[in-house]
Amino acid sequence: MTTVVPPSAVALSSGPLATNVRSSEPPPPAGPRLDAPDPGGSPTLRQHLGRAARLLLSAIAVGIAYLIDGEVFAPVILLFVIVVPFEKIYPRRKEQKLRRPLVGTDITFALISPLLNVFGVAAAIVIGGLSLFWLPGMLVRPLVAMLPPVAMPIVAFFLFDFLGYWTHRWAHEVPFLWRFHAVHHSPEHMDWISGFRIHPFDGVLIAPAFFFLLAAGFDVELTGILALLQIILGLFFHANVRVRWRWLDRLVANPEFHHWHHANESDAIGHNYAPALPVWDQVFGTFFMPKGDRRPQHYGVDEPMPTNLVGLLTHPLRGVRPQLAKLRHPVRAVRGLIPVVRSLLTEVWAVTRRPTHSVRRQSGPGSTSTNASLFDPDDAPGHAPRFRF
Ligand SMILES: [Zn+2]
Ligand SMILES: [Zn+2]
Repeated sequence: MTTVVPPSAVALSSGPLATNVRSSEPPPPAGPRLDAPDPGGSPTLRQHLGRAARLLLSAIAVGIAYLIDGEVFAPVILLFVIVVPFEKIYPRRKEQKLRRPLVGTDITFALISPLLNVFGVAAAIVIGGLSLFWLPGMLVRPLVAMLPPVAMPIVAFFLFDFLGYWTHRWAHEVPFLWRFHAVHHSPEHMDWISGFRIHPFDGVLIAPAFFFLLAAGFDVELTGILALLQIILGLFFHANVRVRWRWLDRLVANPEFHHWHHANESDAIGHNYAPALPVWDQVFGTFFMPKGDRRPQHYGVDEPMPTNLVGLLTHPLRGVRPQLAKLRHPVRAVRGLIPVVRSLLTEVWAVTRRPTHSVRRQSGPGSTSTNASLFDPDDAPGHAPRFRF
């Protein structure tokens, strides 16, 4: 699901850059880590200083987040108190420790979520407005007005989930969008806190759905409750718990359903996008829930990912900075962005109408995709693609 799009979060904490793997092929041998110590040597002074700087930045970001929302610690503590006992009683992976690798990164993501949300909400308002999804919303407004009050939440829930399915799927299959969503898929351990690892601009993909619902006449409170429900469910779906509904698996999402979505196993990739209702995955051919005792064994993504907050936040923008310089001139900026947006929409349309069976590998830099137009043609796997403006 979009995955549930928990409050934006990204971790500032430090740690070596892991080479995450997500592929339909057998995992390649571990590649070099982006900020790993010298082979056979201890960390250099520069690496120590870099780590200290990242910790300081994390502390400052948490402080600012606390000033924005003084209750920032409450959801993290609440989640810890409620979900962790579940993980202990019904563990999916018994050997996984509470203090697993990069848990600090994910906790930092959670703690600075109010700060990241400021950027996320601002971007969401711009994207929601520009997406024009509010136009069809206004068209169906008279129909929505005819609904009995009791049917409103049910219809809104189905609509929201349907739009959540497609925005999540686009985030996987459109390379530019995948850059942001890859941050959420980078954890190699799933648990109570890993769901917070989300790039602030990843969550904004759901903004057009909000604008649609609001323009259609669903009230703000109801839409807000749906968003909150999505966040809570999404966090639970990441937990390291052994929960599935058996015959209900096809009707209601659960941790098993979402763990398969994160699984880095060839036949599982590109499945289970629905936020809460797997019916969309069944309708559009992306449902995956193997029978028997098989459980996801590997999580993560193909591309090497940073493991610290700053690295994860800036990772989607690699290759963009030189192009941004061109955007300082307002006229040139608009002229430059129009083809990018047009190309992006073309990609989204192509992804929406292409047969599901043709997509079984997540897109990413270097993959052959329908939308290479956003990138320079000489991009190759392992190289940061450069945008065309
Ligand atoms: Zn997820
Ligand atoms: Zn996803």
